[in-house]
Amino acid sequence: MQGKIVKVSGPLTVAENMADVKIYDVVKVGDNGLIGEVIELRGDKASIQVYEETSGLGVGDKVETTGQALSVELGPGLIGGIFDGIQRPLDKLVEKSGDRISRGVKVDNIDHEKKWEFKPAVSVGDEVTSGDVVGTVAETPIVLHKIMVPYGVSGKVVSIESGLFNVTETVAVLEKDGKRFPLTMLTRWPVRKARPYKEKMTPSMPMVTGQRVIDTLFPIAKGGVAAVPGPFGSGKTVVQHQLAKWADADIIIYVGCGERGNEMTDVLNEFPELKDPKTGEPLMKRTVLIANTSDMPVAAREASIYTGITIAEYFRDMGYDVAIMADSTSRWAEALREMSGRLEEMPGDEGYPAYLASRLAEFYERAGIVKVLGSENVKGSVTAIGAVSPPGGDLSEPVSQATLRIVKVFWGLSASLAYKRHFPAIDWLISYSLYADRMKKWFDDNVGEDFMKLRAFVMSILQEEANLDEIVRLVGMDALSYKDRMTMETAKMVREDYLHQNAFHETDTYTSLEKQYRMLKLIKAFYELGNQAVASYAELDDILNCPAKERIGRAKYLEESELSAFDEIETQLSAELKALCVGGDNV
Ligand code: ADP
Repeated sequence: MQGKIVKVSGPLTVAENMADVKIYDVVKVGDNGLIGEVIELRGDKASIQVYEETSGLGVGDKVETTGQALSVELGPGLIGGIFDGIQRPLDKLVEKSGDRISRGVKVDNIDHEKKWEFKPAVSVGDEVTSGDVVGTVAETPIVLHKIMVPYGVSGKVVSIESGLFNVTETVAVLEKDGKRFPLTMLTRWPVRKARPYKEKMTPSMPMVTGQRVIDTLFPIAKGGVAAVPGPFGSGKTVVQHQLAKWADADIIIYVGCGERGNEMTDVLNEFPELKDPKTGEPLMKRTVLIANTSDMPVAAREASIYTGITIAEYFRDMGYDVAIMADSTSRWAEALREMSGRLEEMPGDEGYPAYLASRLAEFYERAGIVKVLGSENVKGSVTAIGAVSPPGGDLSEPVSQATLRIVKVFWGLSASLAYKRHFPAIDWLISYSLYADRMKKWFDDNVGEDFMKLRAFVMSILQEEANLDEIVRLVGMDALSYKDRMTMETAKMVREDYLHQNAFHETDTYTSLEKQYRMLKLIKAFYELGNQAVASYAELDDILNCPAKERIGRAKYLEESELSAFDEIETQLSAELKALCVGGDNV
């Protein structure tokens, strides 16, 4: 059946004679066959959001239905790809149509021609079910792409190949109840539908990032959800790059949602330059980039976040730990607002649609750690990190508020810390992690039995500093007791020697959990021994100037192979501070 356009309003077109379409079906709009998606149905009229520039479309132009929901193509060829919001590969688009991407260009989402070396993982006669791995492809030197039986399919393997195949060729055939089902390496999945799994589990282990302020103070769980609001210049990009490089995730999906055009260009230029520190290979060999610059149509931004999370779920289903970063969800919400306005819906807070919060929740809910489908007991996770860019840094606006209600980790980047060049500028007084308690056991078992106690110590010192700061501002540092000054000095150590971390320093850029633990222990030892010395009439200046303290300040530059130096420093510290004790008790 063919519809006819009755109205065009920016990325929104309305067509009549569309009674046979379903909501979220893909349609081809106009003579160029622009890709659109039905987002509202009223009688036989469909509102269609068009993912390409709509100028030139007019009333009376045809609209063809496809009967399919907006889907992504899943299979080898995803990794290293740079796609737009509806998974069209940017390099192929540019190849076909030049820098200004023309409309209605037909390209495959993933490469259909390229041959991959398929290695079977099951044999003829094996019974397999949805999610089972039938074979593998070494997609890049670091990613083994597992070819799974698609959802809803099961049966006995009647044939299986090995060798070079493209993604549309049959690599295996299943049989059930006399019916044969050929398997290719390519599958499709509708982006707005979460991929199924066996069971969702409670996140209980951290995604280690090597960033001290994150791992120690505000850890994120594998399968967790976090938000990071970033006023301009606060180091949002550096935080995201650090996470992409260092987080112990197997696959990184980066969704760039229409930040200012040139910022996205930065990402496109910078990401391919990054190296994976663990393997030395380019980071792109385990990354998928989804890019929407602001000069691309607003509607494609809306889709990009679903495209991204669907690809993330696909790799999760192979048993991988996937991290997806959406930058920024504010721009995505603006796309939602624009479409809602054009649909003439009743506006909610600041013009955002009333369903803003539920749409955001739908995205974040697709994160999690799960037992995946298939007969083996395999776990996979999707960890979602959404950047928020509230106008003017004002967190009371609707997108930030809705996000804060959903996420369990909040890394609040602060413009004033960035101004003081304290990086990462994650403000310890406003940030939080609701996973910390749940992960206590993991940290205690795997890092050190008092790791969580050390964390609590650091938090309380920083809190005390904030309280004392008020007094210092009123009456000056000299008015504080020696004990309070010890607290202030220890807090300064925590800030400068521990939380401050230079992303561009070869050693400082990553700190293992063991090293974090040892650094924390040193700072606590300084605090305790220092207070003992103060109590026995030692001079505060002598305590603060002891050589061991300076070594603590440089401890972050110790290599991971030199961790025994921490024991030495602790011995030295103890000897030096004990030597300062005069005796007695003045506190
Ligand atoms: P944003 O993306 O929020 O505008 P950037 O991530 O580009 O900000 O950071 C701005 C600048 O701050 C960087 O160019 C860098 O010099 C500095 N910076 C941010 N984070 C760090 C860090 N962890 N270590 C060292 N410098 C940093």
